[in-house]
Amino acid sequence: MKTILLVITMLFMTIAGKATTAPETMVTLSNYIFSGKAEIGKLINGRIEKVEVVSNRDYFTWKKGQLYLSKKGQQAIREKKELTVELTYLLEGKPEKKVFRILNDQFHRNPVIAHRGAWKKIPTTENSIKALQQAVTLGCAGSEFDVHMTKDDSLVVNHDAHYKGKAIEEYTYAELAKDRLDNGEMLPTLRAYLEEGMKQYGTKLIVEIKPTDKGAERAALRARKTVELVHELGAQAWANYISFDYNILLKVQQLDPAAHVQFLNGNKSPDELKKDNMPGLDYHYSVFQKNENWISDAKKYGMVLNVWTVNDEKTLRYFLEKGFPMITTNEPELLFQLLKTSPLISQ
Ligand code: MG
Repeated sequence: MKTILLVITMLFMTIAGKATTAPETMVTLSNYIFSGKAEIGKLINGRIEKVEVVSNRDYFTWKKGQLYLSKKGQQAIREKKELTVELTYLLEGKPEKKVFRILNDQFHRNPVIAHRGAWKKIPTTENSIKALQQAVTLGCAGSEFDVHMTKDDSLVVNHDAHYKGKAIEEYTYAELAKDRLDNGEMLPTLRAYLEEGMKQYGTKLIVEIKPTDKGAERAALRARKTVELVHELGAQAWANYISFDYNILLKVQQLDPAAHVQFLNGNKSPDELKKDNMPGLDYHYSVFQKNENWISDAKKYGMVLNVWTVNDEKTLRYFLEKGFPMITTNEPELLFQLLKTSPLISQ
């Protein structure tokens, strides 16, 4: 009888344990940014035990399921802009380790998100490294770019599903990279793009994972490979994810429940998003103008609002007056100018 009870109890514990986090959930912190508080973030993954700090132990401590910065660590991160910390832990009884990059909060406080980088006023190619660099130079709070996957599963940055007349999914990266971008750059890989973005601390990287017509499995693989690369590089503090494919975003959230995610398609109300714990929405401006109550509903639920792609002064003003924290635009210079001059807008 005792044995049966024990087996039932163990079975229940196993089921309960699995229910807290999906087996696929990666080991992730709830936050990677130091904003003046010693508490940095909790580890999210119910299957983890015995966490220990094994690097920079003067700077970091682990207590009560949370990562803390010591006084010395707080001073160091202010000076160095970022610190890394290596944690060891048991994941389902197996020893593992992971390195996290923690940033001092220097991200710009403005709503300017450069759409495909900044490429218009100083002409260059959309989604190029140069366009990202120009968005960084302008001081945009974010720079958006689009991610596709090649036939050999390389992630590349390009807007269309075709590159120089070739369907990206039908060719290998080597085949595609024979053709240069119009500005002479190589077709950027997502790795190169993220690495460039991580050279600075003011501009967030808004990663749009493009849908695919090759089926749900390929879509899920795009999501997985993108999130895994962000984690491998330690880019979590910089990265926001957006997509028109709701299932891609659900996959991102499953892998990394702390990920900053915004849905693009505009066909779900904040009430519907709330049911899936979707933390943000980034809709076409006409959707918000037709459904103004969605703006107040999203704010009420604490969702992060973003809007695309707003390029004229009148519409930019509309969204500034509505208090949007993010506005995606091909005209970042114009939006900065409005922020400086408009008496209506308090930033
Ligand atoms: Mg895009």
